Amino acid sequence: MAQNSLFTHRRAVLATMHQKEKAIAPILEAELGVQVVVPADFNTDAFGTFTREIKRPGNQIETARLKAEKALELTRETLAIASEGSFLPHPEMPFISSNREIVILVDKKHDIEIIGEEFSTETNYDHMVVENVEQAFKFAQKIGFPEHGLIVMFSEYPQDSTQIIKGIVTEEKLTEAVNFVLKNSPTGKAHLETDMRAMYNPTRMKNIAKATQDLVRKINSICPNCSTPGFQVSKRIPGLPCAICHMPTSLTVAVVYQCQKCGFSQQKAISNQGEYADPAYCMYCNP
Ligand SMILES: [Zn+2]
Ligand SMILES: [Zn+2]
Repeated sequence: MAQNSLFTHRRAVLATMHQKEKAIAPILEAELGVQVVVPADFNTDAFGTFTREIKRPGNQIETARLKAEKALELTRETLAIASEGSFLPHPEMPFISSNREIVILVDKKHDIEIIGEEFSTETNYDHMVVENVEQAFKFAQKIGFPEHGLIVMFSEYPQDSTQIIKGIVTEEKLTEAVNFVLKNSPTGKAHLETDMRAMYNPTRMKNIAKATQDLVRKINSICPNCSTPGFQVSKRIPGLPCAICHMPTSLTVAVVYQCQKCGFSQQKAISNQGEYADPAYCMYCNP
């Protein structure tokens, strides 16, 4: 159980309609002592869909925050949890897909917002244009079907929801959907993609759980000045000296923790690396 009691015995509304409670609730209930509740008929699709027929209203954090606010408004509770995922080519390795998951906690009673995060290359995020059912099944095998769901669409940018068949998890349904799209789409081709909604994607569910654990770590980091949870890294300071020439490198030498409530900050040296940087990171020794 957490050492802080701000959240103990409170109800936390989880803004989801894709069964994210399976990943999030067990962790938060055990670690924070909250009771996680999911509002009935909460339509998170209004805040954007992975299949692009509904645009996201803001960036990832803004969208998660909007969902949490909406859940609070609907239920008149004071504590909410929401999550939002994004899937992109890896920033340094464009041929590898990556998944960034965030889980936000919004507490109106204490005026606190804390965000847990997970960045992972563990994802089946992928798409493919197929011309027949055999190609579709080959793709399905690659992305971990049927444990992971599939989506079949008329094209990459469907005009409306009638051109999208989501949540496919059986071979019969896949055959039927692909044949339907091949016959009815103007190009005679079908656009397949992985269903990234949490309940159709166990790999994503794991990343959501990891982001939740990160949230708990940040909640359990307490400000030494005012005891507010969420005392977390706000800045990284580069300049770890090179082992040969002692010139500062781009590697982090220290981090600054800051409290969002009272503004108290504390600089801490990075402890898990040596005193000096590998000369490979030095712009003088290794140009
Ligand atoms: Zn503080
Ligand atoms: Zn050097």
